Amino acid sequence: MIDIRGVDKWYGSHQVLRGVDLQVRQGETVCVIGPSGSGKSTLLRTINHLEDINAGSIEVGGELVGYREHRGRLHELRESEACRQRLGIGMVFQQFNLFPHMTVLDNVAFAPIKVKKQDARAAREYGRELLARVGLADKASAYPSKLSGGQQQRVAIARAMAMRPQVMLFDEPTSALDPELVGEVLAVIKDLATTGGITVVVVTHEMGFAREVSDRVIFMDDGRIVEQGTPEDVLVTPRHERTQAFLAAVL
Ligand code: ATP
Ligand code: MG
Repeated sequence: MIDIRGVDKWYGSHQVLRGVDLQVRQGETVCVIGPSGSGKSTLLRTINHLEDINAGSIEVGGELVGYREHRGRLHELRESEACRQRLGIGMVFQQFNLFPHMTVLDNVAFAPIKVKKQDARAAREYGRELLARVGLADKASAYPSKLSGGQQQRVAIARAMAMRPQVMLFDEPTSALDPELVGEVLAVIKDLATTGGITVVVVTHEMGFAREVSDRVIFMDDGRIVEQGTPEDVLVTPRHERTQAFLAAVL
């Protein structure tokens, strides 16, 4: 579903991704861990074409991210086309960024109606279904400012799911939350990850969560994937010295 090959990324003279190769199968759940500045967010953002890459290629669902083929040649996408491509990939950030002036249900149904031109009634009905799934059926008419951080993040997840993405990317979805609210958000992500064939990539510092839900854990350091494998392989019996040092520091 996601096929990343030989990706390099530079910010000016600073290389932040160094020949990254990563394949994620449809329905797989992958957690990405690693020290601050190792390139985790950058990697996630390239999958969604929020960042250009300097070398290599990224395909999502068989489509080259940021490009389209026309008469056997590759053309860079215009921003409007890149947006369309991005819509098939749901992304949830540390900051929830809900529309403050819209109700919870309108937040969730907005993009399907405005961007996908879906029938408003159907979009709102599906929105209610998603809100029920994230445990917020009773908050449909509330405004974001009246919700806790954990509830807002669950709305953000429902909003991303409303576009029926094949891939969901999460960048430290619980880092901005008070500790007691982390569990409810992780439970929602776990529900998505374990039902319905959706491909999930989560950058997280929650090692317990990574161990519980991942099919595979990726450890990044200094722009490279240093080690990957089952949660047991990487989190319990890491082979690489740098993985061991990282885990010793965070666990
Ligand atoms: P964290 O765990 O702190 O979120 P990360 O692994 O997500 O870290 P990135 O955010 O991908 O790391 O950053 C990788 C490197 O790229 C860092 O050295 C960072 O300073 C640099 N960087 C990130 N974004 C930019 C930018 N827009 N311009 C210049 N440098 C950047
Ligand atoms: Mg980051």
